[in-house]
Formats: sequence, structure tokens, C-alpha cells
Amino acid sequence: NSALNDELAKLDPQSATYAADCQALKDEAAATVADLKRVESETHAWIDSNAGKATATVNDVEVIALIDKLEKERCLLKDEFVSLISSRSGDISEHLFEKARNAAKRYYGNHVYIRGLIEFTNYCKNDCWYCGIRKNNAEASRYRLTEDQILQSCETGYGLGFRTFVLQGGEDPFYTDEKIINIVKRIKASYPDCAVTLSIGEKSRESYQAYFDAGADRYLLRHETADPEHYAMLHPGEMSLENRKRCLKDLKEIGYQVGSGFMVGSPFQTAGHIAEDLLYLHELQPHMIGIGPFVPHHCTRFIDFPSGTAELTVFLIGVLRLMFPSALIPSTTALGTIDPKGRELGVFAGANVVMPNLSPVDVRKKYMLYDNKICTGDEAAECRFCMQKRIESIGYEIAVTRGDFVPMNG
Ligand code: SAH
Repeated sequence: NSALNDELAKLDPQSATYAADCQALKDEAAATVADLKRVESETHAWIDSNAGKATATVNDVEVIALIDKLEKERCLLKDEFVSLISSRSGDISEHLFEKARNAAKRYYGNHVYIRGLIEFTNYCKNDCWYCGIRKNNAEASRYRLTEDQILQSCETGYGLGFRTFVLQGGEDPFYTDEKIINIVKRIKASYPDCAVTLSIGEKSRESYQAYFDAGADRYLLRHETADPEHYAMLHPGEMSLENRKRCLKDLKEIGYQVGSGFMVGSPFQTAGHIAEDLLYLHELQPHMIGIGPFVPHHCTRFIDFPSGTAELTVFLIGVLRLMFPSALIPSTTALGTIDPKGRELGVFAGANVVMPNLSPVDVRKKYMLYDNKICTGDEAAECRFCMQKRIESIGYEIAVTRGDFVPMNG
């Protein structure tokens, strides 16, 4: 017996080593699968982005024809979107932008609407792999604004001419439905002439209904990518495109003005994915569409991925404007982050909304979704007037109104 015990005692550490070896092999295999996936998607990306190139210059006429078709029919087939994206050039973009600007002018004249953005919490229960405030980023220094601080930001914003307040945050369970409802009610009671927009992620239909009944007017929830496999490359397994779409459907049915959108140049994104995003948006028919370049954050696995480009983002703003002539399309902070004139270029390509920051300055740097985010040191008033100068410098005007969605006429 004791000989057996000795033998077992010898085997025990060995089996532990085997178990560790097995785990190491499993990890290696998983890493290899991930690597293969990445290579596969990079190959697709390469094929997509080169698909149209050989014919691009000879076929400028065809690409112009696609833009004209888009203007008339408000949508293209998937392959046509892919050729449009892959064959774009400076001249083609100019043609697109002129049409896009005219479309925006038909509905909104030379007005650009301002939304006061209040980033009220950077706590989040999700772990979106691209996002700087994801729950597992231990380096993020977390904050929450009190109800009074939020109301104070609205007061400052109202004085500065904001008639829409956008409450954005991570998915923070601290703000129960009851708290959100209370905040919405307080803002609507103090500023009945203002719109309240929520951007607080995925909730149940009942919660969305309750916020709406409390007075919330609009909801922003980007679908991020309309391709389920791509979605799974950007998010952990417990999140799904299906639920994101369920949320957007519920929000629309409840009666919100709904905003969706995606990041441009997100890791592994191909022209095919973007075409799917555009087709999904066509199906959803949102009132607002927000797109901005992906920008890496140093505390995420995508630290070494390149940013999306301002050039492609602006091109897609033009495409979206032709698809949705009367939509509210922001020229985003991320666009301003990767190009100092990004937001002006966005408006020039058909965007008609900007969202200066109203959050108290002491928390600005903490709402760091991506690296180098701009406007993190300025007071609300500075942001507001800096934006006005920028908009006026390109011949547009800031509108001091709610800036609601105008339905399309024909
Ligand atoms: N929790 C809310 C708000 C998210 S933050 C929600 O889920 O809707 C708002 C948007 O910032 C996101 O929808 C995403 O598209 C964008 N974003 C996050 N990380 C980013 C990054 N690294 N680069 C560019 N945009 C990013």
C-alpha cells in the first residue's frame, strides 16, 4: 500500500504538469485560431479594398453612375456599395459631397444643430474590446455625476443655447430605471422646450418604454457592425448583434427618434462589412446616423490597430446623406480627433449636427473611449463658441432649436 502511495505521490505532480501542459496547448490552439481568423479577415479586407482598383480609373464614369443611382433610389445592391467604396477617388468624392450638401440644404438649409453632450458615468458592465471604459480596464479612473451635477450641466447648456441634452454613459447598473426616469423628468420639467436624448446602451423594452413615458425624446445606440461574425470579433461572447438589433427595433416601435451607426475602420472591417452596415441602416431607417473613425485605446487588445481614416469617414457621411436626405447626421468628436478639420469636413460632406461637450471639466479626461480625444480640457462655453467659429468659417450657422427630425417629402 505504501509503495502504491509513494507511486501515487510521484504521479500527482506529474499529472498537474500534464494538466498545465494541456491548458497551455489549449491556449495556444485558441490563439492560433484567433490568428487565423485575423489573417482571414485581413485577406478579405485586402481583396475588398483592391477589388475595384484595377477598374477604378477606367470606370470613374460607372462610379459616378452609382452615385447618381444612390441619389435617386436611396440604396444600392451590396456589390455596388462595395465597388463604390473601393473605387472612390478625390474627384468622385467631390461629386458625392456636392450632391450630399444639396440634399441636406433641401431639408435643413445651412443650419447645423448643436447637442449638449453630458457624459454622466464611465462605469460600464460591458467589455467591448475596442472601448477605453470597458469594465476590465483597471486603469480607467471611474466617476459618476450626481443628479444635481447633471441638472447643473443642463442649466449651463441652456444658457449657451443648447436645446437638446444628450445623456451618454457606460452601462452602469447604479443608474436604475428609477434614477434615469427621475433625471429625465427633472430635465423635462426645468426645460420643457428641450429634447432629451439617451445613450445608455442595451435595455429591456420595458425600460425603454418607461424612459419614453418619462419624457425622453431620442435614443442613440450604434449597431457597431451589422455582420454577426465581425460583431463577435469586436465584442465578448455575452454580447450579440441580435440583441443590439432587438433594442433598435423596440426603440423605433416605442416612438423614439432613433440613432444608430458604426465605427469606420474598426479592427477587421472590410468594404463588405460597411456595405452590410449601409444595408442594415436602409432597413432600419433611423432618424439619426452617427459614424466616426475607430481610434485605438492603449488599454485594449486593439492598441496596435490603425485608426480609421477621416477620408473614408467623410466619404461615408456623403453616402449616408444621399441614402437619408433628411436624417440628422453628426460630424463626430472622433472625426475631429483624427483630423483637426475633421468636423468641418464632415459638415461639408453633408453632416448637420455637432455635439460639443457639456460635461464638467474635471471628469472630461475620464470619459476616454479612445486615445487623444479632443476637447477634454475646455469649459462648456469654450467648446460651444469654438464650434460656432468652426461652423461659421465654412458658411454654415448654428441653430438654437431642438433640431428634430424632418420626415422626407417624396
Ligand atoms: N454605452 C453606450 C455608449 C457607448 S459610447 C452604448 O453602448 O451605446 C458611444 C460610442 O463610442 C460607441 O457606440 C462606439 O461606437 C464609440 N466608441 C467606443 N470606443 C471607440 C473607439 N475606440 N474608437 C472610436 N469610437 C469608439
